[in-house]
Amino acid sequence: MLSAGRSELLLLSGGVDSACIAYIRRPHAALTVDYGQLVAASEIRAAAAICGELGIEHHTLRVDMRALGRGVMCDGVERDQSPTPEWWPYRNQLLISFAAAKAISLGLRAVVIGTVKGDGVHADGTPAFVEAMRTVLALQEGAVRLESPALNVDAAELLRQSRAPLSFAAWTFSCHVAAEPCGSCRGCYKHLATIESVFGLDQGL
Ligand SMILES: [Zn+2]
Repeated sequence: MLSAGRSELLLLSGGVDSACIAYIRRPHAALTVDYGQLVAASEIRAAAAICGELGIEHHTLRVDMRALGRGVMCDGVERDQSPTPEWWPYRNQLLISFAAAKAISLGLRAVVIGTVKGDGVHADGTPAFVEAMRTVLALQEGAVRLESPALNVDAAELLRQSRAPLSFAAWTFSCHVAAEPCGSCRGCYKHLATIESVFGLDQGL
């Protein structure tokens, strides 16, 4: 019988936020989804390194959602009507659903997501969305729990609270558009700002 913390499946993109959750909670397993995003291979590489470092079982899943995607993470094109350049319709709803199905196949009881306070720039990063998804999962067979432990803290505070060292943070990957960090997308900006606010300037990550 797995303990409560160990019976969890973490949705791990390889970015700082979900990496911090991995560092803190040490879930039984983590799942990285290649949904057709341009940077899927880099995210999987980062997530695999993080899981290897922490001794977490790592799973990947490929579901090609490019036919339904849009924005810079899909085809590199920014649309004016999107709330942010990286907006991908219903992405988090779909990823949480995939993770819940994977949790059932692995015999795990909960899905953990790394949503942080600043993610509310998209509707699918808000507390109301997380609560609604929690209800949707609980309604269905298996009653997989949805945990979002960082919902009320920002990315820098989460990194600080995790007490993860810079050498661990260096494994993370957050670029939205390129296999190597481009340094000029919103993902790279957030990544650099988070690292710098915790570890100081000029860390070169
Ligand atoms: Zn970038």
